[in-house]
Amino acid sequence: MTQSTRAVTNWARNITYTAAEFHRPDTLDALRTLVAGSAKVRVLGSGHSFNRIADPGGEGVLLSLAGLPPETDVDTAARTVRVAGGVRYAELARAVHARGLALPNMASLPHISVAGSVATGTHGSGVANGPLAAAVREVELVTSDGTPVTIAREDARFDGAVTSLGALGVVTALTLDLEPSYEVEQHVFTELPLAGLDYAAVASSAYSVSLFTDWREPGFRQVWVKRRTDRATVEFPWAAPATEALHPVPGMPAVHCTEQFGVPGPWHERLPHFRAEFTPSSGAELQSEYLLPRASAVDALHALDAIRSAVAGVLLTCEVRTVAADRQWLSPAHARDSVALHFTWVEDTAAVLPVVRRVEEALDAFEPRPHWGKVFCVPAAVLRRRYARLADFRALTEALDPAGKFSNAFVRDVLGD
Ligand SMILES: Cc1cc2nc3c(=O)[nH]c(=O)nc-3n(C[C@H](O)[C@H](O)[C@H](O)COP(=O)(O)OP(=O)(O)OC[C@H]3O[C@@H](n4cnc5c(N)ncnc54)[C@H](O)[C@@H]3O)c2cc1C
Repeated sequence: MTQSTRAVTNWARNITYTAAEFHRPDTLDALRTLVAGSAKVRVLGSGHSFNRIADPGGEGVLLSLAGLPPETDVDTAARTVRVAGGVRYAELARAVHARGLALPNMASLPHISVAGSVATGTHGSGVANGPLAAAVREVELVTSDGTPVTIAREDARFDGAVTSLGALGVVTALTLDLEPSYEVEQHVFTELPLAGLDYAAVASSAYSVSLFTDWREPGFRQVWVKRRTDRATVEFPWAAPATEALHPVPGMPAVHCTEQFGVPGPWHERLPHFRAEFTPSSGAELQSEYLLPRASAVDALHALDAIRSAVAGVLLTCEVRTVAADRQWLSPAHARDSVALHFTWVEDTAAVLPVVRRVEEALDAFEPRPHWGKVFCVPAAVLRRRYARLADFRALTEALDPAGKFSNAFVRDVLGD
């Protein structure tokens, strides 16, 4: 077990965690003893969130699972994988692909931990693809007194147990559903106008579709279209094919990105935009994202277009994706097919926050639910009204963690405690 009190920051370095201690246990027994003997505990995954969601606060212990064995046990007959709590998608995808199997979807980058991603409702794109949490069939937790608890899909508690904001215990392993491996071709198109946009047709033209704009003009600079080669191809008549490889952030080198120009390749080397061996996105940035009902996509895009000069001033890129409705009580896609409006901002919190508020005002009529791992200002009292099953989640935290060992200021705010 290693222990340190050095300053620990998130990936974006806009957050320095205020924990009293940072621990990296190297056995499950050490982890259980540590949890049982600590008053306040939070787990840090790969640190790719942009807010204080992982911060235990000044009295607390911040735990990394990176010292535990990085198990990825694939069951080819059952088509499942049991993955340890500290493993990242890049390692998981390689292990699964090597056994001829695949995950249904991935986020824009494979650098993120599986447990941390599903805890915040992380998603990729695709009209029929739920958030990454939708693949989870079982969660293994170490709860507040160090006792292990397993919650499987059949369990009445399951819909609160995956997208849990880290508030139920330490997730030591997850079991995920897999499917036979498949290949994907990635095509990039340029200059899709906003005027007359048939978003439903564009978004459903391939397995996964992302629109990118810098909001300097009222349209989309790039459209990334990811086609499964085992599905029928739908033409993309709305924009012209790109003539060079592109990065979604203007000016960044395309070598950081997964292969384009329709070269078929394995699912895990095409579904993320960014290659595992390079810095994803810009590396010097903040991010925000809002999920709202998909039927409102075009109206919401016009609402953003109305404030585009304010947005463009602090924006690196804006991405528009789709997420299918899911059942997790705290999922931003809970019970509604969603459009996800994402913003990669410059790394200047003071300049970005007023624009985040303007975006939230512009989108307010569509009842947006912010991504739990990104920057947002929506007051918690407003958020609470947007989660119909919040009381069920609160009851689950009280049952599994009566003393609130795994709670923190972020979670208390969300739950209204
Ligand atoms: C460059 C970049 C690109 C991104 N792209 C996308 C994208 O395409 N789609 C998207 O939806 N999001 C995206 N995100 C956001 C990111 O997916 C989320 O912030 C996600 O939570 C990151 O996982 P993490 O392990 O780094 O989480 P962390 O920030 O480390 O933790 C997030 C939460 O999970 C909890 N947690 C982590 N591990 C455990 C565990 N084992 N047990 C209990 N609780 C745990 C933490 O306590 C915390 O509450 C991106 C972020 C970056 C930096």
